[in-house]
Amino acid sequence: MKLEDYVVNVPDFPKEGIQFKDITPLIGDGQAFAHAIDTMCGIAKEAKADIIVGPDARGFIFGAPVSTQSKLGFVPVRKPGKLPRETVCESYKLEYGENTLCIHKGDIKPGQRVLIVDDLLATGGTIAATIKLIEKSGGIVAGLVFLIELSFLKGREKFTDYPIHTLITY
Ligand code: AMP
Repeated sequence: MKLEDYVVNVPDFPKEGIQFKDITPLIGDGQAFAHAIDTMCGIAKEAKADIIVGPDARGFIFGAPVSTQSKLGFVPVRKPGKLPRETVCESYKLEYGENTLCIHKGDIKPGQRVLIVDDLLATGGTIAATIKLIEKSGGIVAGLVFLIELSFLKGREKFTDYPIHTLITY
């Protein structure tokens, strides 16, 4: 199955010059979605992951099914003000402005092997912040898995210390 056949390129969304990769046709197709999740579960097994972490919001779409199918827990990385208990947070720069991501303190146990699952690797800012949150919590990043990698943005160069897996590369 060619997963790229289920991703639609939308030019100039959400602003001019961005080639937006729309994954909704892929997750709307039972076979294609299952194929993507099965592949990610194989990566989780190989990485000997103890827990899955997914960033808000599309990381939840892929991370949660990988977690249930692999019988592993899932930890959401969320925008500030969404998690009700004590959090650990990390801010990072965007093209314009800044963004902050948080996890619940104690959700990652020291020494746990963590697989980060997300929809797309672009500049890597989101994942760099996610890695910091995991490592601040004492977790070990066992790998990163993305449905899509935009290789021309060179996000992967930020993560030479970690195994990276991508199902579709542009
Ligand atoms: P980044 O932090 O630059 O790696 O990008 C963070 C998130 O932004 C990704 O996980 C995607 O959800 C979203 N994103 C960035 N660029 C695109 C794109 N061209 N098409 C679709 N989603 C994108």
